[in-house]
Amino acid sequence: MCLLLLLSLTAILHASEPLSVRIHNQARLPAAAIAAAITEARWVLSQAGVETTWCDADPCRSDFSIGIRQDDPRDSQTFVLGFAMLGTAKGNTACVVYPRVLQLTEFHAGAAPLSTVLGYVMAHELAHMLMRSHAHSAGVMSASWTVADLRAMSQRHLRFSPAEASALQYAATKRRN
Ligand SMILES: [Zn+2]
Repeated sequence: MCLLLLLSLTAILHASEPLSVRIHNQARLPAAAIAAAITEARWVLSQAGVETTWCDADPCRSDFSIGIRQDDPRDSQTFVLGFAMLGTAKGNTACVVYPRVLQLTEFHAGAAPLSTVLGYVMAHELAHMLMRSHAHSAGVMSASWTVADLRAMSQRHLRFSPAEASALQYAATKRRN
């Protein structure tokens, strides 16, 4: 009985309308790089049962907004690849600090393509916004990725945990209702 209910609930959650995300390409990256990053972000979120649509044109309606910045707007002593503006009026907004994504990818040269890492940062920040939490764990939601994590990204082995996937699906559905 419980299993049937769980399966039905899972079916409903998977059927929810995709979340829309707008990319602000402030770093002026080539369109192909943005498209490749979006492909990775969509894939890893989809593996967690969360479907997304992305746009970088103006205008476009969106639930969330992610700016890919060329500068680092935060304390330069803190090595963050991105951050979500939770608890502010911009709670549905996040930033990706592009120079730091580039730095990490170059530091672990050959471990993962830049666009792949960029896509994972985008998915990571979207998860923060969706769950309204700054919490970190392992895998996609690790606070700092190792060379092994980057290699796992390049092979599409790095995913959200089952618990994170459930929390993301719940948050996505709640947002729609
Ligand atoms: Zn984080």
